[in-house]
Amino acid sequence: MKAVMKTRPGPGNVELQDVPEPQPGPGQVRIEVAVAGICGTDIHILREEFPSRPPVILGHEFSGRIDRLGDGVDGFAPGDPVVAMPAAIRCGRCRYCLSGDVLMCERRRSIGHGVNGAFTRFIVVPAEMVHRVPQALDLQHAALAEPVAVAVHAVSERARVSAGDAVLVSGVGPIGLLVLQVVRAQGGRVLAAGTARDGRRLDLARRLGAEATINVEAQDLVAAAREWSGGGGVDLAFECAGAPASLDACLGALRRIGTLVQVGLMGRRIECDYEQVAMHELLVAGTYGSSLLSWPRALALLARGLVQADAMISDVLPITAWEEGFRKTAAQESIKVLLTPEP
Ligand SMILES: [Zn+2]
Ligand SMILES: [Zn+2]
Repeated sequence: MKAVMKTRPGPGNVELQDVPEPQPGPGQVRIEVAVAGICGTDIHILREEFPSRPPVILGHEFSGRIDRLGDGVDGFAPGDPVVAMPAAIRCGRCRYCLSGDVLMCERRRSIGHGVNGAFTRFIVVPAEMVHRVPQALDLQHAALAEPVAVAVHAVSERARVSAGDAVLVSGVGPIGLLVLQVVRAQGGRVLAAGTARDGRRLDLARRLGAEATINVEAQDLVAAAREWSGGGGVDLAFECAGAPASLDACLGALRRIGTLVQVGLMGRRIECDYEQVAMHELLVAGTYGSSLLSWPRALALLARGLVQADAMISDVLPITAWEEGFRKTAAQESIKVLLTPEP
């Protein structure tokens, strides 16, 4: 089968290769991939800015159908439409495994960088990480379950949004646009902020329920956010851009005793106006990936249209066009690019 692989360490070194089909071991299932989404993390792996264990097949956001069951697996049958949480290897005994925060397990390895991922035809994963896709949900839309679970973890598990809260979402990449939709589903109202090149994404943010949008290159975000909130500042700010200027704007836009949720990754040490955290008694919550509990919530939101997957999918390409998909994602010309496998 054809697979998009990181072949060895170093910048680049991603190729389409022919690899043998995997077989499910005890407790595992083999899934025939329907579609797999390209994520910013895949671009970071390509550029050697995110750790991976090559040779490894990339891709951690996918949907598909159960193809084969390993020994001891019940509850699934071939043909079942499914998605899977990426944490393929974990210890199963530490406090994080027990609490469902499996990405925090020190022995965790995830599909798409730690073990073989979904940019191919067949993927093998532990059955305990698999969720059946609800009937009301299109299999292609279900491929967004992983990034929706990331948004659910940020908005509903690591923070608490209450109905009527004024919420700043800084950064309108795919995760920012999904955070915005989960905040709306919880009754928060949203100001979405992006840069001049985000024009199309800011329009989409409006259509997805943002009350207001702002181009931070044309307007002062802190002043605009304060005015929009009624003067005192926003109740919560989600930093989804992974940029120091965005973080500083979030710190400046928050009301006293407001909550900063750090969603974006900076990828390096940064300078920011950290003094605000003590002076204004800010709560700071980091969020990374999803928990086991984020998944049923994400699937419920998608199945009921409370999170719109369709609007997020900009391109569907065959896996042989993976380079074009990666290029579009890196250049932010797309929202979400999905790859379809080939034999
Ligand atoms: Zn991702
Ligand atoms: Zn563990």
